[in-house]
Amino acid sequence: MQVSLLTKSKDKSKASFILKDVSPSIVNMIRRYIIEEIPTMAIEDIEFRNNSSILYDEIVAHRLGLIPLTTDLKSYFLKEKCKCKGAGCARCTVKLTMKGKGPCILCAGDLKSKDPKIKPVYSKMPIVKLLKKQEVELEATATLGKGKTHAKWSPGLVYYKYKPYIEINQNNIKDPNKIKESCPQDVFKVEKNKLKIDEANLSKCHLCAACQDISPGIKLNDKETEFIFYLESWGQLTIKEIVKEVFDIFKEDLDEFTEALKSAK
Ligand code: SF4
Ligand SMILES: [Zn+2]
Repeated sequence: MQVSLLTKSKDKSKASFILKDVSPSIVNMIRRYIIEEIPTMAIEDIEFRNNSSILYDEIVAHRLGLIPLTTDLKSYFLKEKCKCKGAGCARCTVKLTMKGKGPCILCAGDLKSKDPKIKPVYSKMPIVKLLKKQEVELEATATLGKGKTHAKWSPGLVYYKYKPYIEINQNNIKDPNKIKESCPQDVFKVEKNKLKIDEANLSKCHLCAACQDISPGIKLNDKETEFIFYLESWGQLTIKEIVKEVFDIFKEDLDEFTEALKSAK
């Protein structure tokens, strides 16, 4: 498989890659490993000491669970792989507290973490609005978890599409402007009454075939071995960490599978 970077956002939270010489099943495996297998930190248990806000404990707890927390995979372990055997200790859980009295809006930044490395990614995410005399006080426990258990532990958004190839047969193009206007992604341009591909926008083509449907001069191709792969981190881990983790975890799973095969002989 050949991998090359196509785009990267300024804040490095989004990136796209070209993948070549790879089968759809492997690309989908990478997508599913990212969504389901890479651990991140999220709030799992909450002890409410006071809640006189308009929101029930369950709603506040749900909102807290969905707050992305910065994740340190070097210092923390999944509960089931931790020495405490799932009981919960400083190697697999982190405590966060929140306290507020109205009038105010409690935001993610009001969560005070016992570990400065584990904190809300976006401090301005609102959790609950408190009116005069309303109060909230709670202690939350965050743990490492996987997206296959709950989407709150997924590290980001990931999707892919076939890399588009477009052939233009100028002899069969009657109205280049009509074809240009038919494309919702601005993939074409017209120069000296000739239809051309705007290379800067080609990767935006989503293979809807609107251009091909209105003109026999357009032929769309997609190779089943070339993909554009998009990855957007929700902030718990960097794009680099996510990509590294995918292959580390995949290798671990392969090793486990090989061992299981050996012992089955
Ligand atoms: S397939 Fe759709 S998006 Fe792609 S070039 Fe044709 S009209 Fe544009
Ligand atoms: Zn533990």
